[in-house]
Amino acid sequence: MKKILIILGILAFFTIVAQGVVSSEVEVRNSTARVNSTFNLYAEEETNYWNTEWQIPEKAEIISIKDSLGEIENYERIGGAISFETNRGDRRNRETVKVSYKIPNAIKTWQDEVKVLQLQISGFNDRYEEYDEEKTYARVEVPEKVLGTSENLGFRSSFEGGAANFSGEGPLNFKVTYTDLESNYTHFIPVSPVNLSEADRLYPILESFTGRKADFRKFAVMTLPEGEYGEKLEAWSDGRYKKGGLIFIKESRANDSRFTGLVLHEAMHGFNQRPMKWVRTRSTMFDEGSSRFIETYVNQKKGLHTSELFGNDTIWRGECEGKEGYCRLTLPPRGTSEQLWEYYKENKSFMMGWTPSESGSVTFGYAYGELIVRQLFVEKGAVGIREAYNRLEEVETPVKNSEEYWQGLKETLKTDLEPCKSSEKQKLVQCIKEANSELSKIPSDVDIGEEEENVNYTELDPEGAGETGENVAENSTRNITEPDMLEEGIESFLERIRNWLRKVLKLFNR
Ligand SMILES: [Zn+2]
Repeated sequence: MKKILIILGILAFFTIVAQGVVSSEVEVRNSTARVNSTFNLYAEEETNYWNTEWQIPEKAEIISIKDSLGEIENYERIGGAISFETNRGDRRNRETVKVSYKIPNAIKTWQDEVKVLQLQISGFNDRYEEYDEEKTYARVEVPEKVLGTSENLGFRSSFEGGAANFSGEGPLNFKVTYTDLESNYTHFIPVSPVNLSEADRLYPILESFTGRKADFRKFAVMTLPEGEYGEKLEAWSDGRYKKGGLIFIKESRANDSRFTGLVLHEAMHGFNQRPMKWVRTRSTMFDEGSSRFIETYVNQKKGLHTSELFGNDTIWRGECEGKEGYCRLTLPPRGTSEQLWEYYKENKSFMMGWTPSESGSVTFGYAYGELIVRQLFVEKGAVGIREAYNRLEEVETPVKNSEEYWQGLKETLKTDLEPCKSSEKQKLVQCIKEANSELSKIPSDVDIGEEEENVNYTELDPEGAGETGENVAENSTRNITEPDMLEEGIESFLERIRNWLRKVLKLFNR
């Protein structure tokens, strides 16, 4: 992300000067954004003129700079920085400056339908309490209906129709997404032809989990063919969320039965957008962990098999791929208990700065993040998670490195972020086991209805790509052999009874 430039006031005649409210109007026509920013300059002792600087985007073309006495024709511009003197006149305490500029080709378009305006507007960070409150306002008008926004920490936003409003302190860095597309789905707009009924129906899981509503009109969902996806997003991933409510899915995943889980995984990133605004580093452990948690949960709700975290193979009996009869199907675990044990034993800390696109430990990282969320769930329950989301949203101090990120998470989530850590390996393994069996207890306001009966295994891809990135690990099954292994069915039945007994015994032992 580009660094936001902060404007400094410069002294005129050695008096104290200050800058007050910045109010901007942004209007988009075709692909050009026109910006009018008005700001006040103050001086404690009356002065004839002010020297000041203002920052505009580098590719902006200045239309005019004016103050109360008229146009300011002499200004210096270096890149995006303009410096100028106000017009000289009678001695006064206050002056108002209006800078107007336009930015050609300011709009990025996705699939011809979804548009994105991203801009930075200067603002003042210094507080001079004797003058009016230092604030930055912006009203942004776009030619189509706003889909959503994103803005930096310290700013609030709202939108209606074709306009969005921002207010806060200091420089503003915002994004407005918009489209004229409508849809019959309650929570999604399919930009590509894709069926989102199931995702729409299961969407309340996200609200139930976070205790929040999404900050967008709807989520726009776009599928892109492999090549284009790899070119514009990251080839290693299957899905991608972009701020402002945009979900991208690799076209090849659109018809697979884990598609809904994938869409809701990406939508969960959208739910996290605001609560995680204080994170200004690339660390994404919690963001990914909670999204994977939702994805696993959705897949389980749908009756799909899911792999264990740091545990054992998930084995079941299902229809054989491409031939008659039943097969023993296996999903390998995501990470092993040995890996987690070593991570702790060797005092590793790479999870602090973990992000799937850079790290070599993709599977481990996702599993670790998901395990944290599962343990959080076990320890604090559904209500505890919602409270944690409230606290996340209230964080006011940005974090700029992975240590601060980790510390901030510890404080807001009220947990040590070391799931299942123990000095005894056996205890670690037992803890993992519990975390793997707890998932089905998540209360949800969603009635899945007949879908649960309708289990379909055929989508499982035995040639699965393995660990190439986000959301891929669960696509692969292995060991499709031995048709009609009835014992397997009995064994898993017994395992279920054992699990059930364990839970019942646990209840009695409380
Ligand atoms: Zn993700």
